[in-house]
Amino acid sequence: MAWEVIGHDWAVALLREGLAKGRVTHAYLFTGPPQIGKTHLAQVLAQALNCEEPDPPCGRCSSCLKIAGGTHPDVRVIVGEGAGESIKIDQVRSLQREAILLPYEGRYRVFILRLMDQATMEAANSLLKTLEEPPAHVVLALTAVQAEVLPPTVVSRCQRLDLRPVSLRQVESALEDRGLADEQARLLARLSGGRIGWALEAARGEGTFPQRQQGLEQLMQLLSATRVERFDFASKVSRDVDSCRALIELWASWWRDLLLLTAPAQAAPAQAAPAQAASAQGHIVNLDRAGELEQVASHTDLSRAWAVLAALESTVARLDANVNVRLALEGLLLKLPHWAAVAGTGGATSPQANE
Ligand SMILES: [Zn+2]
Repeated sequence: MAWEVIGHDWAVALLREGLAKGRVTHAYLFTGPPQIGKTHLAQVLAQALNCEEPDPPCGRCSSCLKIAGGTHPDVRVIVGEGAGESIKIDQVRSLQREAILLPYEGRYRVFILRLMDQATMEAANSLLKTLEEPPAHVVLALTAVQAEVLPPTVVSRCQRLDLRPVSLRQVESALEDRGLADEQARLLARLSGGRIGWALEAARGEGTFPQRQQGLEQLMQLLSATRVERFDFASKVSRDVDSCRALIELWASWWRDLLLLTAPAQAAPAQAAPAQAASAQGHIVNLDRAGELEQVASHTDLSRAWAVLAALESTVARLDANVNVRLALEGLLLKLPHWAAVAGTGGATSPQANE
């Protein structure tokens, strides 16, 4: 028996128990933050339903391998297409035409519908028909980040499993098992926030991780840049709202770390600071930037650091509200403090007022 899932033990136990008792639910809903493992768990469930070995899922039979490789004729992962990358009614209709056919080679036809919370309302309502009277050989597995966006009639027809972030310890050891050095495994685990899918992708050098180093270097450079240079940067980056948003979220994670390192030193007597700083280090996310963060923290005023983090977070909210990206970014960059030597070669940092 190999439910090859990292973390989510309770969800696996629940699914396993149901199948062991011969109770196949015809609709499951997996919810949770992006890249937490929702689709993967749905695929392993599909393996458990169609595995040819006595103790499913074996992970090794031809059915399990085809499902893992995305080539099993009875298991389909449906992702949004076209505008908004949302699942559309035509895709649901084609699912319905397929669903009435008996499986080609497995026991069940499994349809995994990714990010149903982004599907169009017509698509969700149309899916309801299948959820109400599913053919006996059909299992639907929906995933969603925000279940509350789905029509309640859809949610109520599904067995719902709300996945939570995997423990960082589990992420770290999964990465070590895949050959990552301890230090890199610890860093990626922290950066992942328990989103195992993100961590595995980063370990392969894919996803958003490769851009991270550059994004943080840009932040350091901007801190010592002139107003004109900052505006130039805003005009370049603001062409793509998604990467702009990702960049600001990255900066916010660095700034949250800065606050962790700044706060104790400001609040406590000088002699207590090193121990507290050491415990704060145990919580920072950007472990590989600890030296730079400490250097900046030792020269940072707590209230100013708070103000910058607030500005970063409110800019993300403004981008989500579809404001003018360039204006929002320019406003943000004006609020960044001006630190002369942060981007330099480790010289003393000298905070200066920008205004
Ligand atoms: Zn198998």
